[in-house]
Amino acid sequence: MKVTFPHMGNIYIPLKAFFEKLNIQVVVPPKCTKQTLELGVKYSPEFACLPLKITIGNFIEAIENGADTIVMAGGIGPCRFGYYCEVQREILQNLGYKFNMIVLEPPKGNLIDLITNLKHITNKKENGITDIYDAAKLGWEKAILLDDLDKKTATFRPTEINKGDTDKIYNKIVNLIDSATEIDDLKNIKLNMDNMFKYVPHDARRQTVKIGIIGEIYTVLEPFANLNIEKQLGCLGVEVNRNIYITDWVRLNLFPSFLKPKEHKKFLDLAKPYINHFVGGHGQETVAQVAWLSKQGYKGAIHLLPFTCMPEIVAKSVLPGISKKYDIPVMTLVIDEHSAETGLRTRLEAFVDMIKHKTEVENFDKVFARN
Ligand code: SF4
Repeated sequence: MKVTFPHMGNIYIPLKAFFEKLNIQVVVPPKCTKQTLELGVKYSPEFACLPLKITIGNFIEAIENGADTIVMAGGIGPCRFGYYCEVQREILQNLGYKFNMIVLEPPKGNLIDLITNLKHITNKKENGITDIYDAAKLGWEKAILLDDLDKKTATFRPTEINKGDTDKIYNKIVNLIDSATEIDDLKNIKLNMDNMFKYVPHDARRQTVKIGIIGEIYTVLEPFANLNIEKQLGCLGVEVNRNIYITDWVRLNLFPSFLKPKEHKKFLDLAKPYINHFVGGHGQETVAQVAWLSKQGYKGAIHLLPFTCMPEIVAKSVLPGISKKYDIPVMTLVIDEHSAETGLRTRLEAFVDMIKHKTEVENFDKVFARN
């Protein structure tokens, strides 16, 4: 068995660690490129959302590289994600590929379901529950470290003196995390992470602004899909916070109920006056996030969604109201296969300029009011 899975940011690292720890061969799809997208666009229905198209490209490239088993997440709720696996299976079979597809449905807090699903994938007598636990623990610790790294990088990038220095350190640490085979290796990386960033010359006096990135999970987490928005914003002096990190998704969707974060329900209450029920994907979270970001002192939010994404279209319809109430500008960016980095840059520059100007005026008003 040679397992593969779709890309979504750095998620391939914990997944690879999990399977390899169980002695299962892994074929990580090549990183998403223009070619991946072109393959996906060529073979997917035109109206399908962008993540489906890119993941089809991932699977074709992985199968061409020798993968014979696809592991894909299932989904529930009023959005197309639940149908993804069926559509993907059909497209790939019609292309003549021979493969096995294993769909991991969200366990909804039932630990037994999750373990049964995992046992089904590992499908080996020698992998008992303890082995699965150890493999999952290694993957989980990697995911935690990768999220920490992403957050740290977002704070260093806007003040770096030489463009690209932060990303060099970032890539170095990502490779270290990827090659770690034991939890102790990860502990060492964690201990040294701050020191490694100290070598990045940065200008602590440079004025930065804090902006949140909110919206559909795949577009937020996959840099190829979001046209490297975090890097682009970092270069404009913006400290970025995402509405979701890999570990957040795992905690909410794969953890048993008693381990789920209690504060999430309270967080969703922020969306209640506008959307008071689940609308699929992360639509409700997107709305709550605007209020949360404003309360945390963020100066703006960028809402990302793939063209035709249903939950985020629902969220978008109420964003003007919540943006006005919490006095936080929100810019929505709809991404599809025709979007390009250069086009995005112009819009980001205009948005960031507007936010910096607004902040200056507010600061001036505060000083004026004091005197
Ligand atoms: S959340 Fe949006 S982009 Fe993702 S599967 Fe659902 S409709 Fe498509």
